[in-house]
Amino acid sequence: MHAQGQDGLLSTWRSSLRSRGLWAYGLALVLVAFYIDLYWFDHFQPLAEALGLRSKWFLYGALYSVAMVGGGLRYLRLHGNSRYNRWRIGVNVGVQVLLAFALPFVMPLLGGVEFYPSYFWPLKWDLLLPDTLWQLPLYLAVYALVGSLLLSPVLAFLIGKRWYCSWICGCGGLANTFGDPWRHLTASSTRSWRFEKVAVHSVLVLVVLMTAIVSLKSTLSPSLPAFAGFADQTKQIYGFLIGSVLAGVVGTGLYPLLGPRVWCRNFCPMAAMLGLAQKVGRFWIRVKPDMCISCGNCTAYCEMGIDVRAYAQTNRSFTRASCVGCGMCAHVCPRGVLKLENGAPVGLRTD
Ligand code: SF4
Ligand code: SF4
Repeated sequence: MHAQGQDGLLSTWRSSLRSRGLWAYGLALVLVAFYIDLYWFDHFQPLAEALGLRSKWFLYGALYSVAMVGGGLRYLRLHGNSRYNRWRIGVNVGVQVLLAFALPFVMPLLGGVEFYPSYFWPLKWDLLLPDTLWQLPLYLAVYALVGSLLLSPVLAFLIGKRWYCSWICGCGGLANTFGDPWRHLTASSTRSWRFEKVAVHSVLVLVVLMTAIVSLKSTLSPSLPAFAGFADQTKQIYGFLIGSVLAGVVGTGLYPLLGPRVWCRNFCPMAAMLGLAQKVGRFWIRVKPDMCISCGNCTAYCEMGIDVRAYAQTNRSFTRASCVGCGMCAHVCPRGVLKLENGAPVGLRTD
């Protein structure tokens, strides 16, 4: 507790790298430049090949895994005194290294397809397109369909979106390890909350429409030739804007300036879908009444910009669609006010 409590907060604001100082701007610049080069140029391809990797994307996967391992070790040094944190970060890093990097690399070498079992629709938006499903072996096509449309929302209903956003997903994993030093930078104003709700649900609507449009391409284009071009353009615009600019350049490149969950909070369609299930589901954060001393640790550490203290001060247990169940609010509370539980009473008021 000592290492990540009040001392941790004070030292945070003394560090230029963690408080939007020159070092933070410098690192953000390097990260943004890296993502621009990765997405739109091929400078990393020769290095990938020299290292025996199939493409620059596997080089990126390797760097991503290294960043998560390094960030995970740092995180555990500070917060590993909690069993929840140890398991959560251990599983998250293991999933990245084994299922999101090693398995997709090895499968084609053994005659299989390159498949990423830890990513589901709508995060991996092309997974449920008819063309993609036809190309997969039956067991993987069933896994993709059941995992995306049934398992993901049902688990979010039962135990909250934390099962995915804080335990499985690579985006959440990077945010919780490499991005952890900047978690306090996430905006917690009401205006940022309003923006989050409009933005994230708009992307969800967009991905549903786009999946439908692209799926209908082969059926409609014989009678409507212009439809094929429209479907291709829709796909390209989504890939550029959501997949590259918002997920990569802004979502990760600006960690040191905006905090590590910009993508997850504002633009990830998977987070939006799971958030809806969570909102009507069983997961909540229980507030023990009349114990809060208003220190603000919980709000400062919340990577999703939730003003946890406001709930604690007014004795309101809560469920918020954006909460990823990282558990940090409960972990840093000096009074043990908060508890993550899967037993919310039916009809709990949610915001
Ligand atoms: S409310 Fe607590 S558990 Fe939820 S995202 Fe914020 S810090 Fe994590
Ligand atoms: S709930 Fe705990 S961490 Fe949050 S303000 Fe109250 S005492 Fe501080």
